[in-house]
Formats: sequence, structure tokens, C-alpha cells
Amino acid sequence: MSKIKALGEFGLIHRLSSRLKFHAPDTILGIGDDCAVYPVTSGTNEVITTDALVEDVHFKLSATTPEALGRKALSVNLSDIAAMGATPQRAMVTIGVSKKISASFLDRLYGGFDSICNQFKVELVGGDTVSSPKCFFINVSVIGKINPKRVFTRHGARRGDLIFVTGTLGDSSLGMKLLHRKKRRASSKDYEFLIARHLNPTPRIQEASILARSKIDITAMIDISDGLVQDLYHICKASNVGARIQEDRLPQSAAFSRACNRNQIDPFPFLLNGGEDYELLFTLPPDGVRNLKRQFSKANVLITQIGEIALKPKKVFLEKSDGRSKFLPDSEGFNHF
Ligand code: ADP
Ligand code: MG
Repeated sequence: MSKIKALGEFGLIHRLSSRLKFHAPDTILGIGDDCAVYPVTSGTNEVITTDALVEDVHFKLSATTPEALGRKALSVNLSDIAAMGATPQRAMVTIGVSKKISASFLDRLYGGFDSICNQFKVELVGGDTVSSPKCFFINVSVIGKINPKRVFTRHGARRGDLIFVTGTLGDSSLGMKLLHRKKRRASSKDYEFLIARHLNPTPRIQEASILARSKIDITAMIDISDGLVQDLYHICKASNVGARIQEDRLPQSAAFSRACNRNQIDPFPFLLNGGEDYELLFTLPPDGVRNLKRQFSKANVLITQIGEIALKPKKVFLEKSDGRSKFLPDSEGFNHF
């Protein structure tokens, strides 16, 4: 008999929850009752988000570790919280356990949850445990708080605003390509960096908090999950504007450029449509740039201006280094259907 069967649903829940070490000081009831209970503060608003990860759609069990999967399942949700300018506080996790999943796999998955919970001070306060006939799946929901005066939506970008992005683009999607390559070459520091950016993305909570605490007029923000162009289109459509981005401004990591050069890979499909960067993409009027740069250089975080919001509604153009301009369609990023 498998260990999970012997443990039973409640034994398993008890075993997994005992791996979670971060407990918020103000939680009234966490895992173990019919609901979790926590106090709410007046004067703030709450944000809530959810995302599911399904085996063979979002991850392959053979290409990741249970720890990395746990970290990523939480991180992608925290990235949505960051994209609003909010602070995450509590999470709920549902797991759909298929036959090939072992108790020790789940222990390690919860070890991954626990490391992100500790890093970002998020308490995992409950969830559900069900069996799943074929594929393993995880659903995560996160609740956080947000200053009602600093809610960064997709719909406020205006003509003349400048477009900025945190960090570098394309690392994750190039990392995924390297990870799934049939012929595995000798690994190098660069490959390890790129693969880690895919398996272990960092939600930009710190960066979002810098923006939320500042007085900078952030007119729109989104996190890049489906690819720069597709996510920029979300801002453009919601705000009824267009955008121009400049090819030679797209930020690349040193590892990314070296790997592209070495393997004669065209970097632009990865930079523009690669997806899963989990960087923040945001817009602001030009008079906020000085303050923005000051805040981020103090924190030692990379931000790059990649273009500007333009007149032509709902169209994104790429300005090439040779001066020509190219229309970018919005359909080349990730789409489930
Ligand atoms: P109910 O039958 O009332 O839905 P459950 O037996 O599903 O309650 O859950 C018991 C407790 O364990 C609840 O507090 C629930 O939130 C928590 N829980 C269940 N599954 C998980 C899980 N996979 N991870 C974390 N907490 C869980
Ligand atoms: Mg239940």
C-alpha cells in the first residue's frame, strides 16, 4: 500500500502542514479548522488572486524538482500581487494528487512552499487535498493588502508615458529551451543561470513595494507572464493606447547574450514573446523618471526604459536599430487555447 494511502487525507494534511514554518503573528486560525481566520485592517484594501499549474501544461515532472515546483507555484501568484503594487500576506493551496505522486514528493513540494513563504513573509493558511486520476495539479490563491491610493491597474497608460521594465527579459524562455533540449550539452554557469530563471523565478515584490511607497505617478502596471509584447498589449487595450518599443533597449542578461551568441540563437523571439519573465512592466509620465531612477538605484535594482506609449490605439511597434519600424502582432505570446 502506498504511504499516502496509509496516511489518509487527514494524516497527509497534518504531515504537510507541519513542514510550514512561517506563521504570521496576527493569524487567528490557520490550517486545521473549516476556515482560516485573520483580522483585517481598516484603511487598506485587500487583493486576491489565483493560478493553477497543471502537469504537462505548465511543468514536466521529469524536468523540475518538487522544491522548485513548490517555489514556482507560489512565486507566480506573488508576481500577480506585485503587479498591482500590493503586499502578499496569506496563501491557500489545493493539490490534485495523482497515482505516481509519493508522500516524499509532497514533503519536498511543501519544503518549496515553505521557502517562499519565509522569504516573502506569507503564511500558507489552508487548502484542499484531492485525488486526480491522471495529472498532478496545484492551485494557489494569495491574499494581500494594498494602499487604496496606490492601486496599479492595466488601464491608466496615457500617450507620452514612458514604458519601463524591471530586470532582464528572455532568460526564462531561453532557460526552458535549454532544459528541454534533446541533446544535453555540458552545462555551464550561464546555462545554469538561465535554467534557474525558468525554474525559480523571483516575484518582484520588493520592486512593487518601492513603487507603491514612492510618490511616482505609475499610470499602468502588469507582470510579464505571457511575453513582453502580449502583456504590453494588455496595457494598450485596457488603456486604449498604442506603444513603441525600441529593439536596442530591451534588457538582456550577460548570460542570455552569451548563450545566444554561442548557439547562434536569434534573441528577439525570446525577448519579445518568450514569457514567464515575471518582471514588472509599467508606465509613467516623463517627469517621474528622475525620482524613479533615484529610488531604484538606492535599492540596487535594474530598471530599463524600453519605449513609450504612442498615439495609434492598440498597436505595438518595434523600432529596429536600423531605424525601421515593424508592427508586432499580439498573438505570438503564450496562449492556452
Ligand atoms: P473540509 O473538509 O472542511 O474542506 P479539509 O479536511 O479539506 O476540510 O481540510 C482540513 C484543514 O486542512 C483545513 O484547514 C484546510 O484548509 C487544510 N488543508 C487541506 N488540504 C490542505 C493542503 N493541501 N495544504 C494546506 N492546507 C490544507
Ligand atoms: Mg477539503
